[in-house]
Amino acid sequence: ASKDCVKVAVRVRPFNKRERDAGSRCVISMTSNNISIQDPRNPQNSRTFTFNCTYWSHSGFSRNKDGLFVPEEAGGRYADQTSVFLDLGQGILDNALQGYNATLLAYGQTGSGKSYSMVGYGPNKGLIPTLCERLFQSIRSMQDSRQCQVVDLLSKSNRSAGGLRVREDQQRGFYVEGLRRVPCDSAVQVEQLMEQGTRTRTTAATHMNANSSRSHMLIIVQLKQIFSKECITKQSNIFLVDLAGSERQRSSGSEADRLKEGTAINLSLTTLGNVISALADMALGKKVVHIPYRDSVLTKLLQSALGGNSRTVMIATLSPADICYEESLSTLRYAERAKRIQNKAVVNESPTE
Ligand code: ADP
Ligand code: MG
Repeated sequence: ASKDCVKVAVRVRPFNKRERDAGSRCVISMTSNNISIQDPRNPQNSRTFTFNCTYWSHSGFSRNKDGLFVPEEAGGRYADQTSVFLDLGQGILDNALQGYNATLLAYGQTGSGKSYSMVGYGPNKGLIPTLCERLFQSIRSMQDSRQCQVVDLLSKSNRSAGGLRVREDQQRGFYVEGLRRVPCDSAVQVEQLMEQGTRTRTTAATHMNANSSRSHMLIIVQLKQIFSKECITKQSNIFLVDLAGSERQRSSGSEADRLKEGTAINLSLTTLGNVISALADMALGKKVVHIPYRDSVLTKLLQSALGGNSRTVMIATLSPADICYEESLSTLRYAERAKRIQNKAVVNESPTE
């Protein structure tokens, strides 16, 4: 078993139209692995945090003829999708190919760039599609016969009747019962499933009078490698998680459903925060009696990712704008706690049956 901390990265995006129209000022600055945030009402007051990686995607970019966001100049400062993938995604893939479970989570307020980083928009492909492309490239370049399965969380048939049940098993830990699994043999196929999943995510949200940024999306890629010469099978799960927006729920007061949904989602993010705090305290040597994994479905499913058998990366995304100061500071605090979590990942291998 290898003991290693959750790797935490932060990324700050360009201003959006609303922020530009409001004449926003950027309150985020980065130097090497440090990120500073300045209190807009009290500019002398700034806080600095240190993370494993920082990505400046706020300025210094242009759009090339294919619509890709790229650094304005060669060697420029802007962190594009490719460099984020090489730092965060490639390691996840390498770990999974070695037989470790791996998790990648995106955390941040709505509109801060979680989906941009995880999924991407148009030509600016995010971590998930790129990881899948590279996964199938590696599979094809290997001599052994290997199989690969993707689990689709958003099958149409079982969406009704309160959704799928989460069960617990001695061996597997918590899992979702009756998930549709789809065997895949290309990245394009995974991409199509993701599009289907994203559509279902939006439709399901509309049905519940909620916004899709109020839901979590979990993609589980199950990788099974059979090394015929060695008679060894390696099996690993890659969890790819686009979390709901972390902002405090502003009570609209009008839609009871929306509020209820919002509260449930906030509860799972609060529980995730509590789990992270407990694990962070434990890593600091404090006495922790109870880690509340069981308090939400999200934390049940992420149990191995947090303090368990997984190599885990979190990318925290930030708006650069002064008007988002409070939310950005709270995201940085959350990420800082996550950084302390220690996992114990093992290579999941067994003799081929
Ligand atoms: P979230 O999923 O956190 O709610 P999105 O990923 O949808 O937020 O991002 C909101 C908007 O900001 C999108 O239009 C996206 O294209 C843009 N954006 C986010 N991150 C970046 C980035 N690093 N570079 C360029 N544009 C970005
Ligand atoms: Mg999103």
